[in-house]
Amino acid sequence: MPFKAVDILGISLLIDYGEMFKQAGVEVELVVNPCPIRGATEDEIIAAVGDADAVITQTTFQAFPRRVLASLSNVKLITSIGVGYDYLDVDAATELGILTANVPDASTREVADHAMGLILACTRRIVQLNEVVKRGDWTAMGDPYISGEIWPKLSNLEGQTLGLIGLGRIGRAMVPRAKGFGLRIIANDPYIDPGIFREFGVEQVELDQLLTQSDMISLHVPLTSETTRLLGLEQLKKMKPTACLVNTARGAIVDHEALYTALTEGYIAIAAFDVTEPEPIPADSPLLKLENFICTAHSAGLSPPAFAELQRRPGAEIIRFVKGEWPVGLIDDRAKETYRKKWPK
Ligand code: NAD
Repeated sequence: MPFKAVDILGISLLIDYGEMFKQAGVEVELVVNPCPIRGATEDEIIAAVGDADAVITQTTFQAFPRRVLASLSNVKLITSIGVGYDYLDVDAATELGILTANVPDASTREVADHAMGLILACTRRIVQLNEVVKRGDWTAMGDPYISGEIWPKLSNLEGQTLGLIGLGRIGRAMVPRAKGFGLRIIANDPYIDPGIFREFGVEQVELDQLLTQSDMISLHVPLTSETTRLLGLEQLKKMKPTACLVNTARGAIVDHEALYTALTEGYIAIAAFDVTEPEPIPADSPLLKLENFICTAHSAGLSPPAFAELQRRPGAEIIRFVKGEWPVGLIDDRAKETYRKKWPK
């Protein structure tokens, strides 16, 4: 029986995996069985995967909790497009001898650029200025000699403090960008070797210090049980009233009700989010009415080269697997052992 891969995302409608498999000389039966990208039920996912050996999905949107994983008795590899795998129970997959892979490095530069862009949009109030010009209200910017609405809020970055929460791939990619603007950088990441802070010339601080010292905070942590609502009202109140908060990581890391309060009560000055909870952000979200809330549509990681790599990677992982190699994007190294036990050669 040939190795069977099922694409429940529909990504293979955009890229010719058949040709990739042929060129690599591997025999793979590819079944395209798309489930809704958002809101697919557990049973829909179980039915779509069926008896496949490998699954192509996007686990930021399509959920693989323990119950689903336990039902997929033939699945050996789940390859998820993108960095985040919020709705994949990695521990359960590992226990069940299923290898899981993401694409950790395809859009690091795009996200870091986007986060810097949002920082600049906040400190230079670019979105608000664009809006006043487009509504034909050039003077609403405020004339420093007469009045002022927007201009008193403008600042320059040099010498200000950027706080990075999470100093992984994207956090580290922020460092040279931010240094180019003359920012002082502090970071909180309890899970990495302290030598990395020294190597990148970043001051290691506790979360509380980061909240109180930063002029701008940029989030670069994964969504986990520990980071869900990491920033609630208590934390936002500790920030400087002039500070900006940039979130290109995951919406649920910040309590949105608390964020609304912080933005309207003046606990922080401005926020720019590429990610929200839920997504898309509801059209009636009170945040969208605030001039000091900027929102982009979970687009920080996108560019044609990044998307091309995201599309290509699942096919490449399947080829590697069929040839007897481990996935390059293997999420949990412990799965090698449980996989070997479950599927002895
Ligand atoms: P990464 O795994 O390389 O780095 C994450 C870092 O966060 C790690 O160093 C880890 O030690 C740290 N961390 C984990 N829990 C923490 C905590 N409680 N406090 C402080 N630090 C903690 O991931 P990355 O490539 O830097 O990506 C970060 C996140 O960005 C992803 O998980 C994903 O959710 C998000 N992302 C968003 C987009 C987008 O389009 N907006 C695109 C790519 C990635």
